[in-house]
Amino acid sequence: MDTTSLIGKELAANLNADTKQRAAALTEKGTAPRLALVIANDAPASVWYVKSLNRAAERLGIACENVDLGVDATAEEIRAKLTELSADPAVDGIMLQTPLPKGVGLDDVSSAIVAAKDVDGVSPLSLGLLASGLPGFPPATSEAVVELAKFHQVPLAGRLVTVVGRSNIVGKPLLQLLLAENATVTIAHSRTADLAAVTTPADVVVAAVGRAGLITGDHIAEGAVVLDVGTNEDENGNITGDVNAESVTGKAAALSPVPGGIGPVTTALLMRHVVQAAEAAR
Ligand code: NDP
Repeated sequence: MDTTSLIGKELAANLNADTKQRAAALTEKGTAPRLALVIANDAPASVWYVKSLNRAAERLGIACENVDLGVDATAEEIRAKLTELSADPAVDGIMLQTPLPKGVGLDDVSSAIVAAKDVDGVSPLSLGLLASGLPGFPPATSEAVVELAKFHQVPLAGRLVTVVGRSNIVGKPLLQLLLAENATVTIAHSRTADLAAVTTPADVVVAAVGRAGLITGDHIAEGAVVLDVGTNEDENGNITGDVNAESVTGKAAALSPVPGGIGPVTTALLMRHVVQAAEAAR
């Protein structure tokens, strides 16, 4: 079987064209939409991601401010900054970069981001709003999975979808988004006794684990669609997914590549959220 590559470039370009226009309209009426990126680490992957977000924002006409609190920032300091930015009318969107300093959990600080500016949906309130079907921002990565599937006309309604990973930032919000698409969803995690037993019946398998090559051809049914959220750095600094692409190619009907699949759509959706937050605030 030919395995189609579910590339994110075209969808990201469509989203970005719309975002750019809406950002320009906001700028014309007053000020450019503004994103604050709060950073408290110097991990190479995060430094690279911040630069790529800065570039993406600039291309789209979104003002992007890096608020670097340093690698020794405490939970109190991070919360205080997030509270200050939440109250600042000049800031439309807030994104907190991970990893956080040692000993600081995302849950210790994320509730300080007001929901209206929580453009990456990390706060407990945002997750609760999503679970309740109320307006709020879903995490851009989870939304990118669903949007990429829909763009490539992968049916979700009534289908069996297995998500591997249950983090608050990918797996759990993705469960909510997939339920909203009327999929029947199974969530697997590190304590799942037999991973293949829950992935092989699925029409769609989503890998959001952080283990390079974990999902192989033995984990999927012939003709399944495989969406790879994983971003793992190999010894040469290359980014690879959670799916062993070689092993599933020829068995899967479609696979999203890493890089070039979920990633560009995630950035595009994050920027769209900033514009949406600005439109709602003005
Ligand atoms: P976490 O480490 O927070 O969560 C990983 C999840 O995978 C956990 O639920 C864990 O289970 C589960 N898991 C770990 N090992 C196994 C295993 N052997 N079998 C089954 N499940 C397992 O990671 P994130 O959710 O933050 O990220 C997941 C991946 O997505 C990473 O590669 C990350 O880099 C990538 N990512 C990509 C983004 C993008 O824009 N493309 C954005 C965000 C993340 P348990 O809960 O039991 O520990």
